[in-house]
Amino acid sequence: MSDPVLEVQDLHVHFDTYEGRHEVLNGVDLTVEEGETVALVGETGCGKSVTGKTIMGTLPRPPGEIVAGEIRYRGTDVLADEAVHDRIKREQMSMIFQDPMTYLSPVFTIESMMRDVVKYHDRRDVSWWEMFSDIIGRDSAENEEIRDRSIDLLRRLQIPDPEGILDRYPVELSGGMRQRVLIAMALINEPEFLIADEPTTALDVTVQDQILNLLKERTENRNLSMLYITHNLGVARQIADKIYVMYAGSIAESGPTETLFDAPLHPYTRGLLASIPKLTGFESEGISGSIPNYTDPPSGCRFHPRCPAYMEGVCEQSHPERFDVGTDHETACYLYEDGMTTSEALDIAESEVRYEPSRLVEAQHDGGGDGRGE
Ligand code: SF4
Repeated sequence: MSDPVLEVQDLHVHFDTYEGRHEVLNGVDLTVEEGETVALVGETGCGKSVTGKTIMGTLPRPPGEIVAGEIRYRGTDVLADEAVHDRIKREQMSMIFQDPMTYLSPVFTIESMMRDVVKYHDRRDVSWWEMFSDIIGRDSAENEEIRDRSIDLLRRLQIPDPEGILDRYPVELSGGMRQRVLIAMALINEPEFLIADEPTTALDVTVQDQILNLLKERTENRNLSMLYITHNLGVARQIADKIYVMYAGSIAESGPTETLFDAPLHPYTRGLLASIPKLTGFESEGISGSIPNYTDPPSGCRFHPRCPAYMEGVCEQSHPERFDVGTDHETACYLYEDGMTTSEALDIAESEVRYEPSRLVEAQHDGGGDGRGE
């Protein structure tokens, strides 16, 4: 069997700030196989984007520091050699970032940025002379071919008047259009591995659906493998083969998409599903409190201050390992034991993990931190 495209093992990332040391990633493990789409889901602030940037090699260091762990891309340990990581990233990987204004230059047109991405994506440096030659040789056959490819891709991303958009600057576009330009720039070189960080959050649902279909078509027909970061469980269900649920810097539960929706086990996963707004007119149930402070995270299971199934004397003692609870299904929770079947584990989840309507629970909790005993 061939190596997975991506293997992340026990990844720890900390940040030094004036407030102190933030222990953000606390042992992340995940695997993406060839041609697979894996979704990384969780609340804002749980470490999803930090995981994506660390894999892509764009983590700002400092203040970030990779304290421990391995990232293997097609068997190569990319953290062991920065030059190798940089080369693989330029030649084979791509990332759609969350905030288009941060990643699009305000002083270049969309056409010139797309042309640079095609021509120079595998280079570290580009001289001013090369850039100047590009501007005066704008009508060269190569540039015309890049322009045609850009127009085709922008059209497939449902951008109206793609020819006109190429001559504009980012400030002249709406937020949704800028986001789609960023998606086009990430796809134009046909990467083998894509990290998509909340790529459709700024888009309305019909455009979102078309973009998800385009990404799906790429994974099915062009052997693209993808790590899709989102807080939206509906999007994850639509696009992913496998889901990793992340909480406060580590993986709480993972499994094939349908298994995770049919038999959610970890109290955090069950809370996320209970938090989805209902159309019945009743208040949705959900998780009280918020993500903990990473300078002083709760001991043991970091979810224990918010967990409805918390077991005193157990859960705050040590961080739970992930237990095997069915085919390719794992969960990091002391309610379960290694080797249980999914249905045995689901019986436990249904009897032990209960979420009450959020307005009742809110009155009893004060949010993050280790709030037990109050
Ligand atoms: Fe809840 Fe304990 Fe499981 Fe953590 S280990 S999720 S606190 S039951």
